[in-house]
Amino acid sequence: MKALKIIDLTVKINNKEILKDFNLEINSGEIHALMGPNGVGKSTLIRVIMGDNDYEITKGKIYYNNIDITNKSVSERAKMGIFMTFQMPYEIEGVTNADFLRNTVQSKTENFKLYSFIKDLETETQNLKMNKDMIHRGINSGFSGGERKKNEVLQMRLLKPSLVLLDEIDSGLDIDSLKIVSKNIIDYYKENKPTILIVSHYQKIFDYIKPDFVHVMMQGKIVKSKDASLISEIEKEGYQKFEESRTSDIKGQEKNE
Ligand code: ADP
Ligand code: MG
Repeated sequence: MKALKIIDLTVKINNKEILKDFNLEINSGEIHALMGPNGVGKSTLIRVIMGDNDYEITKGKIYYNNIDITNKSVSERAKMGIFMTFQMPYEIEGVTNADFLRNTVQSKTENFKLYSFIKDLETETQNLKMNKDMIHRGINSGFSGGERKKNEVLQMRLLKPSLVLLDEIDSGLDIDSLKIVSKNIIDYYKENKPTILIVSHYQKIFDYIKPDFVHVMMQGKIVKSKDASLISEIEKEGYQKFEESRTSDIKGQEKNE
């Protein structure tokens, strides 16, 4: 079954078109990588799938498990099992991590048991090699970039989403933290078989998390899709050649018109 289906999605912010006729399909339980240089619209796509209504959808549809979610709210989508991690996770004072996590897990869980939640929280914190006291601090309050990324993965492991959108989960991580974060994502995948879309610039994370498909995005569109071998092509040759092939495609189209 198609977990995610995006058809001709066109998205604007402040009157600037960021995604244009964007198409993507992901089967249930597959891992897809979305790669591309800065500013091509990767984070925009992730936020729009999650339902951020700062963005205006001027055309197209998003389906999740065959349900049209294009106009659903963030919380409706979260209830359906969609989850995203932020490229730059926010700091929120006044709410502790533990309270935030308990509230969100509780709101999603019938027969919520506080005791087992606390046990899970402890286990998952240890799995991520996070400092215990971080749980009782404000959300991301005083956390380093890498600790924030671990905190995003902690949320994923506790909320148990079925569609996971990871926006540069690897950025700002040292090599040991990258291994820990990747292992926690892979273990979650093995246990729960979610559908995963990972955005990254770099190939390193894909040494740990093997995608079934890789897409290259340029200027609001996917310009190339292939198996994982595309990652080493990108590493060797950069994104330039995709830019060139896109420009020649457009020129070819113009000639034909
Ligand atoms: P990526 O994640 O691929 O680096 P983004 O999706 O963050 O790219 O951004 C795509 C483009 O949209 C960029 O040119 C960025 O400047 C622009 N953009 C994103 N958010 C806004 C906004 N709130 N207002 C205006 N432009 C924006
Ligand atoms: Mg981004």
